[in-house]
Amino acid sequence: MATPAKKIQMVDLKSQYEKIKTEVDAAIADVINNTAFINGPAVKEFQSALEKYLHVKHVIPCANGTDALQIAMMALGLKPGDEVITASFTYVATAEVIGLLGLTPVLVDVYPDTFDIDIEAIERNITSKTKAIVPVHLFGQCADMERIMALAKKHNLYVIEDVAQAIGADYTFSNGTKQKAGTIGTIGSTSFFPSKNLGCYGDGGALYTNDDDLAKKMRMIAHHGQSVQYVHDVLGVNSRLDTIQAAVLKVKLKHLDEYAAARNKVADYYDKAFAHHLKLKTPKRVKNSTHVFHQYTLQLVGVDRAKLREQLAERGIPAMIYYPIPLHMQKAYQSNRYKSGDFPVTEKLCATVLSLPMHTEMDEETLKYITDTVLGLVN
Ligand SMILES: *Cc1c(COP(=O)(O)O)cnc(C)c1O
Repeated sequence: MATPAKKIQMVDLKSQYEKIKTEVDAAIADVINNTAFINGPAVKEFQSALEKYLHVKHVIPCANGTDALQIAMMALGLKPGDEVITASFTYVATAEVIGLLGLTPVLVDVYPDTFDIDIEAIERNITSKTKAIVPVHLFGQCADMERIMALAKKHNLYVIEDVAQAIGADYTFSNGTKQKAGTIGTIGSTSFFPSKNLGCYGDGGALYTNDDDLAKKMRMIAHHGQSVQYVHDVLGVNSRLDTIQAAVLKVKLKHLDEYAAARNKVADYYDKAFAHHLKLKTPKRVKNSTHVFHQYTLQLVGVDRAKLREQLAERGIPAMIYYPIPLHMQKAYQSNRYKSGDFPVTEKLCATVLSLPMHTEMDEETLKYITDTVLGLVN
């Protein structure tokens, strides 16, 4: 098998940039020429464009996706002792801010086929101290928001959607109503980390909400709790989206749907190549959400993952493990509350998942090489 001429990468930001270089360079130069580095016009412009794209009343830009989660929890007035339910199979940021604010993270397992939070497990873990649920739309497909919202309504809980991996995904309710991921819960929080589906050229993040009061509060908290200049009404943080990043994002947002389509083409190719393979379980697509494939994640069945990864690397194919250690087994999050074996699905996933290269610039030659190589190795 001939190796493709172009080096295979998990994410190819350079090739993507080259296609929009003229526009991005001009947008960045404009910020520099106007020395509008902090809260320049591009921030508002991007904010409005994203509000329009998401059909949401308020977008509040901030410095990164982790800050977004923290600002959301601060704005909801969550206090030490309050319990926040989230998935045990996710990126650390989700649980990190819960801990930082002195709230109690209550982890629950996920579904083995979609990687999303287990709704029955959420319900079993609701107590009188529970204040919020943080579903994570992992790898680019929405969690079961209709059931989560029903549960939240029944128990009077807030819902913060962690949409860092699923910006642009559409969720369809059983009555046919469609909403963008992150605009269904009380608040949506997202990240513009470079490798995310809508990534800037540094750090960036945003919050979404349809609630006017919450929007005002979150904007205030992100700007030192300031209502008018040098008047501070609440305890806040310093979390701004740089104007240069907003300028890049404004250009890239116009391409987001195109990028999602390109990612879906890659996923379709992988799905077809690996369909019905006994040792490769392809990611399940659900009916009520589109998938924007932040990651394409296989579950290996009876395959030595470390060896496969090494063999792939030798053949020029990177593959990543998202995530190798469950949250409850991380040193920073170990407590008397949890022990090994508590989240069997998460623990199994951490031991068997493998994510393949997934980005907007993959050609068919590369995909053929990757799938042929994987199939040859796991045979
Ligand atoms: C990336 C990510 C975050 C954090 O975003 P940063 O911008 O890196 O702070 C939070 N949650 C999930 C699920 C993520 O993937």
